[in-house]
Amino acid sequence: MDIRVEKFIAPFRVDSGKGFRLKDYSTKNTNGFKDKEAAGDLLAKGVEWMSEQQEMMYAQDQYSMLLIFQAMDAAGKDGTIKHVMSGINPQGCQVYSFKQPTSEELDHDFLWRFSKRMPERGRIGIFNRSYYEDVLVVRVHPELLTKSKLPPEAIGKNVWAQRFESINAFEEHHTRQGTVIRKFFLHVSRDEQKRRLLSRLEEKSKNWKFAAADIAERAHWDDYQAAYEDAIKSTATKHAPWFIVPADHKWFTRLVVAAAIVDAFADLKLKFPEVDKSKRKELKAIEESLKRER
Ligand code: ATP
Ligand code: MG
Repeated sequence: MDIRVEKFIAPFRVDSGKGFRLKDYSTKNTNGFKDKEAAGDLLAKGVEWMSEQQEMMYAQDQYSMLLIFQAMDAAGKDGTIKHVMSGINPQGCQVYSFKQPTSEELDHDFLWRFSKRMPERGRIGIFNRSYYEDVLVVRVHPELLTKSKLPPEAIGKNVWAQRFESINAFEEHHTRQGTVIRKFFLHVSRDEQKRRLLSRLEEKSKNWKFAAADIAERAHWDDYQAAYEDAIKSTATKHAPWFIVPADHKWFTRLVVAAAIVDAFADLKLKFPEVDKSKRKELKAIEESLKRER
């Protein structure tokens, strides 16, 4: 599609880990955009275009798209998913939110529960958290690893490098099989997270969103940032790039995510499937007989 979309998302796209440092990426950047209104109109256009593309992808029944969302708490994953996918046909879209693994899930390899939920051909799959938690929260809390039922050789000193290798192989495999993968890290600042957590405490209508656990995880801020940096660095590839999305301004977060999805669809050069000559003839005959019907 538009070269401008590609240019717009370029500063946020990471498709090689070389020299990657999270601190080089701003949480506040709005790339010259000044106001919500202009961004809102553009977002609406993007969503409309996406919805047509999604229909074509569904009709073609060949490709699928996996969108992965990772972030610290209160960075806006839920709101972004809601806004960006608002115009998409719900039948063509599957959203999964991944929590702590169940004991059945822990009885399998760490990719098992995600593998089962990969989008079918023609569909968009959204992972609200993903297998990246297994190199993030599990890395920040090593006791999750030692308490798991994994054999000692699976949790040795190379455990993270090995997990990155498994993730890269998994993503490459699915890309080859027709799944377009895009990964989003909603990059929020520590100050903005504080503001949002405070408003969950102060505003009655937001109280339900507050989880004491978020405060506990906040205390591990630096460990999380380091784990994110290493995970992104180790798994950023041309076919499954990361987007480091500035998340201090929610309206801008949404625009960047939508633009990255628009760009991913554009790469697929989708078309509605064409019917061959004999099928066309058959349809024509049915059309005429239907018109003659009284
Ligand atoms: P929200 O708070 O907006 O509802 P959420 O994604 O934070 O969304 P929660 O139920 O609050 O949902 O949290 C899910 C928790 O599950 C997160 O803290 C996450 O780190 C944790 N989790 C996900 N995968 C794993 C895993 N493999 N091992 C341990 N914890 C995990
Ligand atoms: Mg939470």
